[in-house]
Amino acid sequence: MKQRLIQYFTQNRERIAADIVRLMSAFVAERTINVISERLADYPFLKCRGEEYRVAELVKQEFRRFGIRFTEYARRPERPNVVGTVGRDEAGTRLLLAAHMDIVPAGDGWTTDPYHVTIRDGIAYGRGVLDNKGPLAAIIVAGGILTELFGDRPMAGQLLIAALADEEVTDPDGIDYGIEYLLTERLIRPSHAIIPDIGGDMRQIDVAEKGQAVIRITAQGRQAHGSTPEQGINAIYRMASLVRELERLVLDYTPHAVLGIPTLNLGEIHGGAAPNIVPGECTIHLDIRTVPGLTRQSLEHQLQKCLVQVDGSFRMETISWSEPHQLDPDNEVVRAIQNNSLNLLGFRPEPFGMGGGTFAKTLNLAGIAAVGWGPGSENAFHVTDEWMEIRQLVDFALLICLISWDLLT
Ligand SMILES: [Zn+2]
Repeated sequence: MKQRLIQYFTQNRERIAADIVRLMSAFVAERTINVISERLADYPFLKCRGEEYRVAELVKQEFRRFGIRFTEYARRPERPNVVGTVGRDEAGTRLLLAAHMDIVPAGDGWTTDPYHVTIRDGIAYGRGVLDNKGPLAAIIVAGGILTELFGDRPMAGQLLIAALADEEVTDPDGIDYGIEYLLTERLIRPSHAIIPDIGGDMRQIDVAEKGQAVIRITAQGRQAHGSTPEQGINAIYRMASLVRELERLVLDYTPHAVLGIPTLNLGEIHGGAAPNIVPGECTIHLDIRTVPGLTRQSLEHQLQKCLVQVDGSFRMETISWSEPHQLDPDNEVVRAIQNNSLNLLGFRPEPFGMGGGTFAKTLNLAGIAAVGWGPGSENAFHVTDEWMEIRQLVDFALLICLISWDLLT
């Protein structure tokens, strides 16, 4: 059967590539930009964040065309998730392939129209071709081919092909419309998952991800007229002292075999209202990526110690917190990816750990064996002229078919 799949791809490669490109281009044309609500005014064509329904409509149309059953799950109608199923046996392995429909803004400096896929020398350019609309097109086409060739018959398990909402950012209210919503409401129950959202040109398998803490620290000063600074307390000066302390801070941790060391980034600073006012408040946001062993309590304690070294009053809040995770690389999903890649492409993707967080983290923390693995370069995420090799998308679609075959029959 696997030979039949390989043969099918060899004979129909052009048409399969055209199918993936057609679908990816239609997805890219929909500007499903996901920003925090505060920034929504910069995108007047959006009524709400993400508006993933624009892509979801196309996904449903494609599922119908391929004869794939699907269900739509939405916390609000403009931000749906669409999950297609291939195979019927819900008692066996349930392999989830999930890609997200939202994108980050295009930003400046593009040499092509970011919302129109341009192809040059076998490479597609456009916002989302990698992150994550190209891989989304590939998994849908793979599901279509499995359905076409085998129908529902031979599957002992079930393949779930998911187009999800709300991956790129979370609003300060913390409400999730994508994977967390599906898992906490028990709308899907996968046993295994592959998340094609890491780059690595299919050569790496993400089996571990650092935890992430976002921390806000506010320095309190006292506002006064700018002509009499001696009557106020300048919160920006106060924060500047703390920033110097943070720059020197060495976190106390034990390095992790796969994830290495924790990192700390000071990514935002805000303070002051006008040149003629002594600023009464100054705020910073830290993004700290943690490794196992560095607990929330220990991290907050270490930061507090930093705060008391600086004169003045500060307020610290942990805005979000996620734990690190690690999946044992001796696992059937990892093996299926490795064996099939070696046979087809001649290389064996290797397990590794990363600092970025994908859906794989949410799934692992919910007890599902999920890995990140997929086509495209890790250097093409969120950049101008985002790119994706079309050849990789077709190889990936075939590998998804072969891996599904191994895991579900
Ligand atoms: Zn992504």
